[in-house]
Amino acid sequence: MQKLSAYVITSPIFFEDADPRVVVFATRTGSVFEVPLQVWQALQAGNLEKLNTQMLADLAEAEVLVPEFQDELSTILKRNRESIRTNTHLNYVIQPTAHCQLGCGYCGQTHERKNLGPLQEEAIVRDVGARLETSEFAELNLCWFGAEPLSGIQQMRSLTPRLRKIAEDRNVEYRASIITNGLAMTGKVGDELVNQLGVVSVTVSLDGTAAFHDKRRHTKAGAATFDRILANLKALAKTAANRPVEIKVRCNVDRENASDVVPLMQRLYDEGLSSVVQFYTAPIHAWGNDAHLRSLEPQEYARLELSWLLMMKRLDFPVPLVPKVQRVVCLAVQPKAALVDAHGTLFNCTEVSYVPAYGSPNHFAIGDVNSGETGTARHILGGFNDMVEAGKFGCSRCALLPVCGGACPKEWVEGRAPCPSSKRNMPDRLLLAAAFNRIAATTTPVKAMEVA
Ligand code: SF4
Ligand code: SF4
Repeated sequence: MQKLSAYVITSPIFFEDADPRVVVFATRTGSVFEVPLQVWQALQAGNLEKLNTQMLADLAEAEVLVPEFQDELSTILKRNRESIRTNTHLNYVIQPTAHCQLGCGYCGQTHERKNLGPLQEEAIVRDVGARLETSEFAELNLCWFGAEPLSGIQQMRSLTPRLRKIAEDRNVEYRASIITNGLAMTGKVGDELVNQLGVVSVTVSLDGTAAFHDKRRHTKAGAATFDRILANLKALAKTAANRPVEIKVRCNVDRENASDVVPLMQRLYDEGLSSVVQFYTAPIHAWGNDAHLRSLEPQEYARLELSWLLMMKRLDFPVPLVPKVQRVVCLAVQPKAALVDAHGTLFNCTEVSYVPAYGSPNHFAIGDVNSGETGTARHILGGFNDMVEAGKFGCSRCALLPVCGGACPKEWVEGRAPCPSSKRNMPDRLLLAAAFNRIAATTTPVKAMEVA
């Protein structure tokens, strides 16, 4: 016997040649279907005898229908734990410096002129090597993170060949990414990142056009940064053309700059960047501070985001409407993953180092790169799936869990719900996916199913 899964989300009803239909999103598998309304009604009513054998088989394969007595939450968390256990990627984040030139109002970090020293670099190489030995890793995913990582480019230069070598010696693929404010990423530096430092993914933040960005992401002395960052992005796009390098532009949004998201997209389009960069918006959140107090209400953000997604489609940006299955939520739940800051302190989260609000010593610290991991702090965030299983957070009752993963363990542990915008606008996203599907080749495959 089968039942309708609790992990199914539908679009509002729409009409195709006067026939009412809905888009069905089975989050357990990430499958998206269009079905006549009467099929959906039969599923909701449990009238499965109205559906033909092929359709029943397809629905079961997509896990729209699941075994009647299955505990779905346990099944999903079991899969998550299995994916964490068998993950073949070692994720390792290095903050080569505690310095950043910018003075963004929402940043919770305290910056200082402190870069990794030679002994710490030595310890990092040893630490990465030791972690690679612990499992059958196939890939080392190295992320250069800040503060501003390019303020530590000397350390990036000295560490890269050594980290590449230990990966190569173990037959592990090396893949590096960088999250940078982009200010120091001149054409020459961009070229070096891509051609010498093995960087295949670059993320840069622009908080709007110059009028808004420069008010938010200025230097510590208050100087404008937009024009330089944009010029640097254009140079990088040129360098990266025809190379397997992804460039992402993130726009951090709150009430102050929401009205400038579309002008920023238009500017990127006018500069010829829309087909080259992956553009996305992210709501401002607390970072050991009260930055979230300037945030848009989640419902308002979700509503505005739909208009941004539409504009992205019009301007030729890739539009990620329907999230994919996410079994490993983030660094925090991966037992061998780590972040090391410029003091050599180890963490299993990217948002806690350099944040004075987390105490001294930082209560999220899991150890030191010289002496290794100590204590039980890894478990504060690392036990997230167990906490979900115990019903501690809303995720244990949420249909999006298989594609969201719980979004951010730290936010939950600190008492805030980090739900992505899709929690509030998923039905409309599905409708958009169906519309885009009809306009042209869509980014989201929507498969049609017919009634028996
Ligand atoms: S716990 Fe949250 S902030 Fe920390 S790494 Fe995971 S997603 Fe990022
Ligand atoms: S973070 Fe929010 S949207 Fe994601 S699974 Fe948890 S409750 Fe659902």
